Amino acid sequence: MGNYIQDKESQRVTGPLVLEVRGNSLDDGPGIRSVLFMKGCPLSCVWCHNPESKNPGPELLFDASVCLSCGTCTKSCESGALYLKKKQLIFDRSKCNLCFSCIDLCPSGALERAGKSMTVDAIIDAVMKDKPFYDTSGGGVTLSGGEPLMFMDFASELLAGLKKKGVHTIVETCGIFKFERFMELVLPYIDMIYYDIKIMDALLSERYTGVKSDLILANFRALHELSLKKSPNYLLPRTPLIPGITDTDENLSAIAEFLSSLGIKKAALLEYNPLWHAKLNKLGKDVQDASKSREWMDKKHVAHCKEIFISAGISV
Ligand code: SF4
Ligand code: SF4
Repeated sequence: MGNYIQDKESQRVTGPLVLEVRGNSLDDGPGIRSVLFMKGCPLSCVWCHNPESKNPGPELLFDASVCLSCGTCTKSCESGALYLKKKQLIFDRSKCNLCFSCIDLCPSGALERAGKSMTVDAIIDAVMKDKPFYDTSGGGVTLSGGEPLMFMDFASELLAGLKKKGVHTIVETCGIFKFERFMELVLPYIDMIYYDIKIMDALLSERYTGVKSDLILANFRALHELSLKKSPNYLLPRTPLIPGITDTDENLSAIAEFLSSLGIKKAALLEYNPLWHAKLNKLGKDVQDASKSREWMDKKHVAHCKEIFISAGISV
C-alpha cells in the first residue's frame, strides 16, 4: 500500500488530468481510502489549499527552495525558459512550452509535472491494489479535486466501475454542478457526498471564491431532500475555517442556521492549513492579500467556531 501516480500517455485520454492518486488516506472519509485528485475547479478561492488543482491544464511546478542551481535542466530546455544567471537558476514561465523534458534531468526534484492523463481503467487498477485495506477498515475511494463533478461523464464511468468491484465511494464537491446531470450520472454510484459550504453571503462568496453562493445552496437543499431517503451519513456539509473570511461569527452562524433549518445534525469544520502558500509559490504565484495568514489556527478559536455549530444543535 502507498502512494502511486500513473502516467499512461499511450492510452486513450478520456477525461480530466489527474494530479495524484493518494493511497492510505485517513482524512477523506471512513476507513482507509484512496483519494483521486482531479485537476480543474470552477471556483477560485483566494485561500485554495490545492492551488495546483485549479487549472484543468498541465503545469510545471518549480520549488526554488530545493533547487541546487546545478544547471543540468537548462540543457534540455530548447525554449530558453531555464537558464543560469549569476550561478542561480532562473525559470521564465512565459517561455515554457510545457514539454516537461527538464523534469527527469533534475537531481533534486525541484521540477515536477502537475496533471497527468489516466484512463478510467488505469485509475481502477491503481486503487484496487488497496482493496483489502478498504475491506478491513470500512474504507474505499474518494473523488476530490479540484472539482470532480466538473467532469461528470468521467466521474460516472469511474464510480460505476468502482461500485461493480464493491468499493465504497465518496465524492467531495464545491457544489457547482448541474443537478439533473448529477442525478442521472453520479448519484447511482456514490455512497456519501462531502459538500463544501464556505460562505453564505452571495456577494462575499463571489468576492472570495469567484462565484455567488446561490447555486451551491440550491444544490445542497436538493441533495438534502434526497439524503432523507438514504443513510443518515449520506450528506456531510463541510466548512473550511479561513482566517477573517469563513471563520467569522457572522458567516459561521449563518451556515449553522441554514443547516439547522434543514434539520441537519452533523457537519465538519476543516482547520486552516497555511502550507498552501508554498504550493502557490511553486506555481510562480504570490499569495493574495485576502488570506495571508501563515499561522496554524489557535485551538481556542477553533473551539469557539465549533461552539457556534454545537449551540445550533449540530455536532462537529
Ligand atoms: S517544460 Fe520544457 S519548455 Fe518548460 S522549462 Fe521544462 S524543458 Fe523548458
Ligand atoms: S536540474 Fe533541478 S536542481 Fe539543477 S538547476 Fe535545474 S531545477 Fe535546479
